[in-house]
Amino acid sequence: MSGEGQTFVIVGAALAGGKAAETLRAEGFAGRIVLIGEETERPYERPPLSKGYLLGKDPRDKAYVHDAGWYAANDVELLLGVTATAVDPKAHTVTIDAVEPLRYDKLLLATGSRVRRLDIPGADNLGIRYLRTLVESDALRGDLRPGSQVAVIGAGWIGLEVAAAARHHGATVTVVEVDTLPLRRVLGDEVATVYANLHRAHGVDFRFGVGIREFGGAGGRLTHIVLEDGSEIPADVAVVGVGIRPATELAEAAGLHVDNGIVTDAQLRTSDPDIFACGDVANSYHPILERQVRVEHWANAQNGGKAAALSMLGRDAVYDKLPYFYSDQYESKPGTGMEYSGYVEPGKYDQVVFRGEPTIRPDANPEFIAFWVKGGRVLAGMNVNIWDVVKPIQNLVRAGYAGKTVDLARLADPSVPLEDLLT
Ligand SMILES: Cc1cc2nc3c(=O)[nH]c(=O)nc-3n(C[C@H](O)[C@H](O)[C@H](O)COP(=O)(O)OP(=O)(O)OC[C@H]3O[C@@H](n4cnc5c(N)ncnc54)[C@H](O)[C@@H]3O)c2cc1C
Repeated sequence: MSGEGQTFVIVGAALAGGKAAETLRAEGFAGRIVLIGEETERPYERPPLSKGYLLGKDPRDKAYVHDAGWYAANDVELLLGVTATAVDPKAHTVTIDAVEPLRYDKLLLATGSRVRRLDIPGADNLGIRYLRTLVESDALRGDLRPGSQVAVIGAGWIGLEVAAAARHHGATVTVVEVDTLPLRRVLGDEVATVYANLHRAHGVDFRFGVGIREFGGAGGRLTHIVLEDGSEIPADVAVVGVGIRPATELAEAAGLHVDNGIVTDAQLRTSDPDIFACGDVANSYHPILERQVRVEHWANAQNGGKAAALSMLGRDAVYDKLPYFYSDQYESKPGTGMEYSGYVEPGKYDQVVFRGEPTIRPDANPEFIAFWVKGGRVLAGMNVNIWDVVKPIQNLVRAGYAGKTVDLARLADPSVPLEDLLT
């Protein structure tokens, strides 16, 4: 056992913070662990909020990171509905709800992200929905009914998953997106087109290349949205998914190095040696990608929480997991379950190589792998409805970042095992 008499404080009681607390105990830390969260729910995972839970299929309990009794059983002090309002790195204190200073030996900031809000007429008084928390998922779920007219603002992952859930519940759906395709910045035109076709096959109407000017309605009820080109779309539900920003306010006020998130080294240590950061809020040095990256995905919260805990314990825990995320859209055909591994900056690839057909057909699920390639090197890969291939795809990406090229004809050929491409 180690750490007796020490206090480790974790700010942010969600997936990254919860996993860090779990790892500290699993690794034998015997000191005090305080886990502080401003939400009133114990740590939970957010992916179900736009998928199984929003569809009405998965129970609420499935989203929680631990059983309700886990915290007491593991002597983790879970302070919920409590906001950390200041950090004093010199005094080694965290101030809670602006009154109580709590002394720490090591501090982990796992404060995640906050949704970007729209500041346009009607945004504050017509019941406009956002989706980040369980409470917001509950509210949205109550709105999605047969015949509801749903407007989704923003065709990113959350917007598209909400569109799929709304169609599942029998609502009509219009998605408004300033760009020319959904997910274009993340995936590029080639794969973004697949997602546009997928949603069109399910009856979703897209308005591309235009933003929203205002929400219209009266008496607190939305009736329509007005686009920047002056056109109006009838809507009784509007869901905004226009991205998130890292919750860096505590770190900034504490004088930590912040630049698109809390800047850390590969051990998830911030500019202060006793303060660590992980999950959505951390902009960490990635030893394989050889750059700082901030990853807004589930696996990064899960694995980063574990790695940060090991670093807090003084272990040499280099965090070098490749960025990985998944998304599921539509259970009825055509549907896509996908996993993406790797990292490509928008537009910084030569071509997308498809292994399999990226075509959307009415009564079949597409099955393909897309590889983002530059100079013959695989920078990222995405498997759609093809499973158990993440490991070889990640090996290709690691090799690609190490400078190894692959034969593109063999990469596209499903008869060549992925494992053989590097030999
Ligand atoms: C609807 C939805 C669906 C998603 N689906 C997927 C998916 O399919 N695949 C995928 O890879 N990723 C998905 N994600 C992203 C993934 O959930 C996030 O990357 C992950 O939640 C990040 O976890 P985190 O613990 O770093 O931060 P967060 O989940 O943002 O949690 C941070 C917590 O810190 C709290 N906090 C912040 N500041 C303070 C403070 N000062 N004091 C106290 N508490 C504070 C916040 O209230 C919050 O509870 C989804 C996200 C959402 C919202």
